[in-house]
Amino acid sequence: MKVAEETSMTKEFELFDKMSEHEQVVFCNDPSTGLRAIIAIHNTTLGPALGGCRMQPYNSMDEALEDVLRLSKGMTYKCAAADVDFGGGKAVIIGDPKTDKSPELFRAFGQFVNSLGGRFYTGTDMGTSMDDFIHAMKETNFINGLPEAYGGGGDSSIPTAAGVLYGIKATNRMLFGNDELGGHKYAIQGLGKVGFKVACGLLEAGAHIYVTDINPDNLLAIEEKAATTTGSVMVIAKEDIYSQEADIFVPCAFGGIINENTIAQFKVKAIVGAANNQLLNDTHGKMLQEKGILYAPDYIVNSGGLIQVADELYGINHERVLAKTKHIYDSILEVYQEAKSSGRTTEESANQMCEKRIADRSKRNSFYTAPAKPKWSIRNLS
Ligand code: NAD
Repeated sequence: MKVAEETSMTKEFELFDKMSEHEQVVFCNDPSTGLRAIIAIHNTTLGPALGGCRMQPYNSMDEALEDVLRLSKGMTYKCAAADVDFGGGKAVIIGDPKTDKSPELFRAFGQFVNSLGGRFYTGTDMGTSMDDFIHAMKETNFINGLPEAYGGGGDSSIPTAAGVLYGIKATNRMLFGNDELGGHKYAIQGLGKVGFKVACGLLEAGAHIYVTDINPDNLLAIEEKAATTTGSVMVIAKEDIYSQEADIFVPCAFGGIINENTIAQFKVKAIVGAANNQLLNDTHGKMLQEKGILYAPDYIVNSGGLIQVADELYGINHERVLAKTKHIYDSILEVYQEAKSSGRTTEESANQMCEKRIADRSKRNSFYTAPAKPKWSIRNLS
C-alpha cells in the first residue's frame, strides 16, 4: 500500500516537474465533441500568452504534452524578440485534422480558451485553418490570425517575408558593410507563401538567386518574375541547394535543415530564412560558428507574422505592422554584435537578449500599476 502511494505521488510530481518552467497547463476534455486538447502557458511577464493551436494525431499524452510545453516556451522567446506585449503559450488538439474536425469541436475549444479569461490568445498553426477559428471565435474574443473580413490581419506571409528581407539586410551589413540586397547571390529553398515574396524582393533589388522547390509551378512563376527585373534566377535540384555556392542560404521550406549533413555541404557566408526550428539541435549552432557561417536566429527573422497577429489585437494597421517589422533589422544586428564580442553563438546571444527583456520587465512589474491599455480585445460579440 505504502509503495503504491509513493508511486502515485512520484507520478503526480513528475507532471509538475515537466512543467516546472511553465505557469499553467490546462487539459481540456469535451466527450460530446471528442475534443481533447492541452493549453500550455509558459510565461506571461510581458503580457497575455499568445500562440497558435496545432492539431495532430499524437501517439500518446506524453508526446502531446512535450510538444505543447516546448512550443509554448518557444513563443515566450519569440514574443520577447519581437518586442510585442505578449507572453508565450500554445495549444494542441489531439486528433487527425483530416477526419476529426467539426464546427462543434472548435466551439468547445473556444469555450476552454474563453475560460482562461484572456490569459491565452490563439489561432491557426499546423493542422488548423482560419475557418476552424471562425467557429471558435463564436465562443471567445481571444482568437487572432483571422481573415480580414473577421477583423483579422489577413495573410501573415507579407510581414514575414518583409522581416526576412530586413534580416538579410542586417546580415549584409555585417558581411559587406552595407545593407544592399542587390549584387549578391542567394540560395533559396522553398518558394511558397514566404519564400516567393522574399525571392521577388531580392530579384527586384538586382540580386542573383538560385532556387529550388518541389512544386514546378513555383519555379515557373519565379522565372517569369525574374524576366521583369534586373535580377536573375537559376533553378537548382532540391538536393543540390545545400552545396550551392552563394553568399546567403535562405531556408523557407521546413525545419531541421541545419544539421551535420548539411553543414558539411554549405558553401555560404550566412544563413537567413523563414523556416521554423532550422537548427536540428543546439550543437549545430556551434558547428556553424566554428565553420565561420553567420546564422540569423530563425525566431527573430521570421517574427513578422507574429508582429501582425499581435497588432491585430489593437485593431489591425498594416503600416504599423511593417514599421515594427523593420526592427528585425536592429535585433539581428544586436545579436550579431553581442555574439561577436562575447564569443557566444548567435542563437545563445538571441536567447540571452530575450531573457534580459523578460527580466527587465519583471522588475518593473514588481509594483502595482493601473491595467495596461489596450485590453487586448477588439471584438465585441454581444
Ligand atoms: P508554404 O507551405 O507556403 O511554402 C513552403 C514551400 O516549400 C512550398 O512551396 C513547398 O513546395 C516547398 N518545399 C517543400 N519541401 C521542399 C523541399 N524538399 N525542397 C524545396 N522546397 C520544398 O509555407 P510558408 O508559409 O511559405 O512558410 C515557409 C516556412 O516559414 C515554414 O517553415 C513556416 O513554418 C515558416 N514560417 C512561416 C510564416 C508565415 O507567415 N507563413 C511565419 C513564420 C514562419
